[in-house]
Amino acid sequence: MDNKFPGKDISQEDIKTKFPLAAKKKDNHKSRFTVAGVEFGGDLIPVFAGPNMVESKDLIFDVAKNIKTIGAHFMRGGAFKPLTFPYRNKKYTETREEGIKWLGLAKEKYNIPIITEVMEEKYIDMISEVADILQIGSRNMQNYPLITACAKTQKPIMIKRHYGSSLRDWLGSAEYALIEGNEKVILCERGVSVPHTHRATSRFLLDLQVVPAAQEITHLPIVVDPSHATFWRAWVKPMALASIASGADGIMLEVHPDPENSAVDPLQPINYDDFKSLMLQMDKISNSIMGKKIFK
Ligand code: PEP
Ligand code: MN
Repeated sequence: MDNKFPGKDISQEDIKTKFPLAAKKKDNHKSRFTVAGVEFGGDLIPVFAGPNMVESKDLIFDVAKNIKTIGAHFMRGGAFKPLTFPYRNKKYTETREEGIKWLGLAKEKYNIPIITEVMEEKYIDMISEVADILQIGSRNMQNYPLITACAKTQKPIMIKRHYGSSLRDWLGSAEYALIEGNEKVILCERGVSVPHTHRATSRFLLDLQVVPAAQEITHLPIVVDPSHATFWRAWVKPMALASIASGADGIMLEVHPDPENSAVDPLQPINYDDFKSLMLQMDKISNSIMGKKIFK
């Protein structure tokens, strides 16, 4: 790219000196790597599915079994949850170490790799024993000591974009992971804060423009999470399909057997039937428009 400002606030100088590792070396430069046998950056579009929160062992086993059968590549779910407000009733109580254990048992039984959030450095080793990908939540996108410590494990890392962050700052966070010699770094768009979100209950707007914008500058895979972005079940399907068409390298979806009774954010998860039909539709768009596939 030879224009002076390849991104709104990103100069050629930034590319050379601020995030040389995250930046593409040439136009067709794309990272390709495998996590637990699943390839990122190739013709597969990996799908992460699961509940917002690791609520119970039964829930996690049921989800693992069903999403694996439907074709998800990874199970998601937080045992450590950064909730916006500190008050937690019984329903919101994090399952923490126990939840991580359940993820590990479900992973073994149903042979599905795990992505889960790390909030504090002191739990990195424990979580790394189970997780195939360490998730840095949007609220920790600029917690550089946490990113550095996670990256040092050499486990794959997914950095969710903070809802107020520019592409430039997001790439800066990725650079903190890459500089540790960790090449398995994934970015995830999950909605940005704007005054107009079209529903009182929706706090964010899915920024699909960031997918092609990021891909002009970085070789890292970009995952899109339409569940957290829309906060509204009925919008997850259209936005997931649009994410594929926008060029997303992966999709994260909240899936729950009984969405209305999800412990956290009950307006956004989809049920197994809707997940199944969405997978088929995403695959169609992947095949027909993108020359990619959803099913391994
Ligand atoms: C999540 O994926 O569980 C999560 C908390 O997302 P975010 O950090 O994007 O809010
Ligand atoms: Mn959430």
